[in-house]
Amino acid sequence: MLGNRTHLMTQKTPPKGKQTDASEAQAKGKPAKATEKQRAQTGRPKDGKAEALSNITPERVAVSAKSESAVSRNIADQAPEQTSSPTMASAAKAPEAPETISPEVSEKKPENARSEASSPDTTRVSPAQKNPVERVSVAFTAELPEAEPTLEDKKTLAETDEPPSVPVNAEDAMPTTEPVFLNHAPNEEPVPMEAAGPAPVPQDLKPSEETPPPEPEFILAETEPPAAQVEAKPEPTPHHTVSAIPSMFIIQITPELAPVAKVGGLADVVFGLSNELEIRGNHVEIILPKYDCLRYDHIWGLCETYNDLWVPWYGGAIHCTVYFGFVHGRKCFFIEPHSADNFFNRGCIYGFNDDVMRFAFFTRAAMEFLWKSGKNPEIIHCHDWQTALAPVFLFEIYKFLGMTHPRVCFTIHNFKHQGVTGAQLLHATGLNRPEYYFHYDRLQDNFNPHALNLMKGGVVYSNFVTTVSPRHASEAKDQGQGFGLEPTLHIHHVKYGGVVNGVDYNVWNPEIDRYLPYHFGLDNIDDKYKNKKALRDRLMIADNEKPIVAFVGRLDPQKGLELIRHAIFYTLHRRGQFVLLGSSPDGQINSYFWSLKHQLNDNPDCHIEIGFNEELSHLIYAGADIMLVPSQFEPCGLTQLIAMRYGTIPVVREVGGLADTVFDKDYSYKPLHERNGYVFKNYDYSGLESALGRALSCYYDYPEHFRELMKNAMRYDFSWKNPGQDYLNIYDYIREK
Ligand code: ADP
Repeated sequence: MLGNRTHLMTQKTPPKGKQTDASEAQAKGKPAKATEKQRAQTGRPKDGKAEALSNITPERVAVSAKSESAVSRNIADQAPEQTSSPTMASAAKAPEAPETISPEVSEKKPENARSEASSPDTTRVSPAQKNPVERVSVAFTAELPEAEPTLEDKKTLAETDEPPSVPVNAEDAMPTTEPVFLNHAPNEEPVPMEAAGPAPVPQDLKPSEETPPPEPEFILAETEPPAAQVEAKPEPTPHHTVSAIPSMFIIQITPELAPVAKVGGLADVVFGLSNELEIRGNHVEIILPKYDCLRYDHIWGLCETYNDLWVPWYGGAIHCTVYFGFVHGRKCFFIEPHSADNFFNRGCIYGFNDDVMRFAFFTRAAMEFLWKSGKNPEIIHCHDWQTALAPVFLFEIYKFLGMTHPRVCFTIHNFKHQGVTGAQLLHATGLNRPEYYFHYDRLQDNFNPHALNLMKGGVVYSNFVTTVSPRHASEAKDQGQGFGLEPTLHIHHVKYGGVVNGVDYNVWNPEIDRYLPYHFGLDNIDDKYKNKKALRDRLMIADNEKPIVAFVGRLDPQKGLELIRHAIFYTLHRRGQFVLLGSSPDGQINSYFWSLKHQLNDNPDCHIEIGFNEELSHLIYAGADIMLVPSQFEPCGLTQLIAMRYGTIPVVREVGGLADTVFDKDYSYKPLHERNGYVFKNYDYSGLESALGRALSCYYDYPEHFRELMKNAMRYDFSWKNPGQDYLNIYDYIREK
């Protein structure tokens, strides 16, 4: 539970800037047995016999899944813990000179906490500059009682374009437009906003009884076009530089960033999106906590850039130092608080009782830093509940201190964790009017009237809300996967949509992947099998004719733990091999998989690796034949997208982003050359077997079909090209014009 401590000004402390290989190859077809040394390396016990497992059954995993779901509603919301760090090598990219903050900004004093009650800023933009989302919001703003408008506010209220500084009333929010979901037709070129009309997105895919289910988002990779067709094109335009949207200054506020602070897909997304936005000529800066567990070997030129940041906290202020450094070319600011709370020196990123307070503090610090340093971005993009308070702080505090320019895009990567907490959050962060924030239209949790919900606040206050696939946007709003936020999403549906994540093909590309012993692509697809051999050597599994089925991911109930376990035994039964790489912050789940590992230790066709290992994950994507993603729910999923790039066939459950990106070889409505995997619907053993069984049969019985499927998957373009343009469209849609 969250402590009721008083946090006052703290002393400044000095900045704390700091910073398996294979044994001999197995004879083909002969199961390999691990030597003593190998066992020591891999953590396998000397006696391969399974431990007593009688008390650890799949049912217990299922129970754990259920209880986890219940826990997620607890007031002290806890996110999964990072188990260890990735191991990417340092980038060679030459960075620019580190940014320093101009001296004049440091003259601003941290008295903003006192200024919060000041009257609203009266700076207005002409109605002609309004964007559609804001026009809709403003109409409702006028009726809300607690806006406390000044005289000038009242004069301009009807025509103002201010962002939704107060929430939209449920009854008022009659749909003027339908929810927007972002989809791309194959090889669609970016549409200039002027040409596209007021809405930033091309299609409305709101599911209804009359209309068919949403068209999944995908980017088709066409088969090689005929030469004549290519010649007929006037001049192929490089996608990165063509955009009718003026370049923007974008700030990403995030708890994770690959590869320096990665727990899951969020880290990859922030890095990949920021890269793409920069490539398209925008200026992107990323703000994240200065964790002690950062991969400092991936940060270039780390230096102190601002050492006088005082962040309001519990009526006092905590002193922070801000560091600047490049992460593979991206400009990053790392905030280090000097406080007895020791917010970010915990050895891992998540998993503490005070996680909500840790990230509320970080978000307040990030906003304070933006204000103090005089940064004036067009867009603040925040991610998940950890940074969901950014728009609340902006529109309830910093707007009145002069930050009237930025608009906020909020991306929800996982609805399951929402940052639900108690009233002390308001006291700590300086949001001083409990009766105002404990309101259904603002931060009050939809279930518990005595709790605040940070993610809900992010939805209410942001100018645009996205989740990471169109299908999941619909599932969260209409199909009960919003973990209680469904009514809030309905109220705010006019500013809500889904964008399928991209994959950073500079990192995830078998042609250049630094972790692969053998590079391969469509032209030399057979070299994939050299990686398969390398994977077997490394994991000491048998080198035989069998297909390798793999799972890479967090061992979270969300990922379908019962089905993963079943798939292991089913695969072995069907003459396949199984490789699992994953970890869980939940001790019960972890120990279950450790038991499974011991049980299967002597099986030459199976390897279970528990832990986080970026390097090994690359070899698995390259060496496996089939990638399993049997999730209960999956907002987007990166593993299936990465796998496809490596010619590894995804077997997935038809849910969220998996449904938007994987098309069944036998049953999809897509033309044959656009089918790229196997899909099952029902979350049960027979559902799983139906898809995995077909994949294994195809591998054995129709190898040429399987190969075609691999090529189809590899041809797909899941890069950041299209999602990058989607986000730019959204930014342009909401930015102050
Ligand atoms: P989520 O965000 O729910 O964790 P995603 O599929 O969106 O799932 O992203 C998972 C990312 O984390 C992928 O890049 C995957 O390779 C990586 N990953 C997950 N678990 C591990 C692990 N144990 N070791 C290495 N990489 C992992």
